[in-house]
Amino acid sequence: MIDLNALDVLSPGYEASPKAKLTVRCHSVSDVVQVLAYAAETGDRIVPRGGGHCFVDRCPADGIVVDLSGMDRIAVDDHGVATIGAGARLGAVYAALHESGRTIPAGCGDTVGIAGLTLGGGIGLLGRQYGLTCDRLVGAQVVLADRSVVECDEHRESELFWALRGAGGGQFGIVTELRFATVPEPSVCRIEGRWAEPESVVKAWQDWAPNAPDGLTVNLTVQGGQATLFGASTMPPETTRALLREFTARAGVLYAIDIRLDVPYSMVKSTFRAEDPAEGSRSRSEFFARTMSERTAGELLKGLEGNRRLAFTAMGGAYNRVAEEETAFAHRGERFLLEEIGDPGDPWVDEAWNAAHAEGSGRVYPNFPDLALEDPAEAYHAGNYPRLAAFKKNCDPHRVFDFPQAL
Ligand SMILES: Cc1cc2nc3c(=O)[nH]c(=O)nc-3n(C[C@H](O)[C@H](O)[C@H](O)COP(=O)(O)OP(=O)(O)OC[C@H]3O[C@@H](n4cnc5c(N)ncnc54)[C@H](O)[C@@H]3O)c2cc1C
Repeated sequence: MIDLNALDVLSPGYEASPKAKLTVRCHSVSDVVQVLAYAAETGDRIVPRGGGHCFVDRCPADGIVVDLSGMDRIAVDDHGVATIGAGARLGAVYAALHESGRTIPAGCGDTVGIAGLTLGGGIGLLGRQYGLTCDRLVGAQVVLADRSVVECDEHRESELFWALRGAGGGQFGIVTELRFATVPEPSVCRIEGRWAEPESVVKAWQDWAPNAPDGLTVNLTVQGGQATLFGASTMPPETTRALLREFTARAGVLYAIDIRLDVPYSMVKSTFRAEDPAEGSRSRSEFFARTMSERTAGELLKGLEGNRRLAFTAMGGAYNRVAEEETAFAHRGERFLLEEIGDPGDPWVDEAWNAAHAEGSGRVYPNFPDLALEDPAEAYHAGNYPRLAAFKKNCDPHRVFDFPQAL
């Protein structure tokens, strides 16, 4: 019997994974291999963990959590390729890349894990210019279910490399290291504004934000009687101001707008509040390939009371310049992503999702998992599902990596 005592075993009882039979914090690839060898003897399922921010708890009671937080090294080489340990979190990633004058397009939320974010796609304020986080992935090291350690990229284990880019985490193996082609870190205009008339703002935003030049990403949240626009622009200040004037002319009464110039991208991210849905709220979401009708938007806005909130994320731009079958991320023709967020147990979340769903594209972001979906395979993977399912069968035939809605 493999003995795990020499490893950094954190539970039973470890607060971040209370349901798990064991949590093992790994500090090396050989730690990961040993945990997989142990699970092969016991028959336990394996759940990898990067930042631990998954919206749903994927660990069964007999599951072993492989916590990668002990593997968080970040280095950038002379060609601008960043090698990032799978346990690194976004705040540390942005800060380390900033030291080299580089960055990657990735999400907000300093504590979100680079691994989970990348494996499901990775949407962020530079995405309309540079694509998803997974679009910048050029290679990865992975420990597979059979305990082999493989390097994958365009030429080696290319099917694994394809599948890692957007199918969602925890499906094919334990990623221990990710390599990204970084981009020069831009200085951006940080944009935050509040408007008084949500109906006209939602209409104006839908017509404007998904069609804006790639350098401008502005997202929208609506709560109560107020609409808040927030985002960043890599374009010159005068161009940015002209675009915002165009929006304001259509969006009705402006309460306040704050435009800060020359903010390093690595800093602007953490100035926006990124709420953890696990902390006291429930959300559902869907992509939209078409503008929502005024009738449906009106219906959604009518129900917004208390903590209920709508969040619109602009897609388009570089996200959509990759073919759907080129990576596992299948959602390449969308205009925006809409989230309905409320208190846990508030029926409005489902009611609003159902109302919006009539006009949505039926596609759901794999990083925003939703256990209420009727056909999760179609929603998360669309036309890429048959290829992903065949690859899953091949690389994890005994389903060492398994959870509800897994491939
Ligand atoms: C506060 C907050 C802000 C967010 N902001 C954004 C945003 O701006 N943009 C965006 O696109 N998304 C955002 N998200 C969603 C986020 O992308 C997902 O929650 C993501 O899955 C989190 O990854 P993680 O590593 O932190 O979580 P985990 O729970 O550790 O992992 C998520 C999934 O990936 C698997 N996984 C993790 N590490 C590995 C690994 N090394 N190898 C194999 N599988 C692995 C896990 O098993 C799990 O299935 C946000 C979430 C939160 C909570």
